[in-house]
Amino acid sequence: MENTYIVLAGKIVTVSEIGTVLNGALIVQNGKIAGVLEGDLAKKFFPSFPTFDFSDKVITPSMVDCHTHLLEFAPGSLYPITEETQLHAGSFILVKALMSGITGFGEQICGHPQSLYSITDYKNAVKELPLDIAFAATSISIGFKSLAHFTSITKSQPVEKEDLIRARILFKMAGESDYPGENLFLNATPANFTKDVVPRAGELIYSEGELKDIVRLFHSQGKEIGVHVAGEKGIDMALNTGVDVLHHAHGINDRQLQRAAENGVKVVATPLGGTHIEPNSPEDILQLVHAGIETSIATDAYLPPYPDVDWLPYKDQSLKGPEVLMEISQPSMKKLQENGCDENDILKLITSNPAKLIGGENKFGKLRPGMDANFIITEGIPGLEITNPEKIKSVYYHGKCVIKRD
Ligand SMILES: [Zn+2]
Repeated sequence: MENTYIVLAGKIVTVSEIGTVLNGALIVQNGKIAGVLEGDLAKKFFPSFPTFDFSDKVITPSMVDCHTHLLEFAPGSLYPITEETQLHAGSFILVKALMSGITGFGEQICGHPQSLYSITDYKNAVKELPLDIAFAATSISIGFKSLAHFTSITKSQPVEKEDLIRARILFKMAGESDYPGENLFLNATPANFTKDVVPRAGELIYSEGELKDIVRLFHSQGKEIGVHVAGEKGIDMALNTGVDVLHHAHGINDRQLQRAAENGVKVVATPLGGTHIEPNSPEDILQLVHAGIETSIATDAYLPPYPDVDWLPYKDQSLKGPEVLMEISQPSMKKLQENGCDENDILKLITSNPAKLIGGENKFGKLRPGMDANFIITEGIPGLEITNPEKIKSVYYHGKCVIKRD
């Protein structure tokens, strides 16, 4: 039987109702998880399965980064690519992220002046990679002196504000979106520019009435909708209009936390930055989790770190990619631990919660029978105990070892 074996580990953190199993065995059959048991039992029950011994290591689900810009914006920001090589560079960036233990992505396609490709082109370019990638078709509004708008439907062609609320474009966006990413920018974004270049970053782009209609349009297509939003006014507008997912939600206050929790609104926190105001602090993320909001942490990569916040270790403004997911999550994960959270619940923020958000709830993000065998063998619990990707010894996707460090 192909892809059938037992892996023994000192500790298996399943992020499922099984919880943590010490001296455990992960049983893989045909690329799926068949069970998680104590090691002795596994050898007794499955005597014919080949066994690999990692008794000094930890096994957890592989990670999921549910808010990224790796194919459209990153290649040209990082490398001197052309139209001919952009998609190859995008695949390379994804493989690099895979080396950091991430096998699931929520990728935004926003429209970009230098990128000629459609969402279908991007999907086709990466479909052979050993990754689960959900795409969000979005529009984007950048806070230059004269606002710049793009959409995934109109690609490199700039559009007017009026086009952002056109039914023809919105129906297509809803149709092409796999999951509620940042489908709209409620506030103009600074993108990766410095303040002086984007004086209108933060400005609200939509009226509440416009947003309400767009939310109804997405819902009428059976699609959830997510928005890029920060600051009290924008968050109120999103909560008033039935938006399903708040991306960033920087500056969310206590009253809004309660409302979001009551309405089942999910939050994708981006502690690295991404909007015009200070990103989610460890304290903020603790509040989100305590309020009962389904919270994910994502990188929004590639992004320059928000300057001068004490939970980020970076001294310069160089662009950070998915390889920092563990590092930017650690302060929040430790804060949760100090407040008595179980390690399985803490690890959810970068595994099962984002997996659910991108539509993989029953496939990946947890180690339990029937799920895909997407897991990592590490020197510690990602985020809580390790932040350096080099400490991830191997990455498995559908039971196959796709990354291996000696
Ligand atoms: Zn983003």
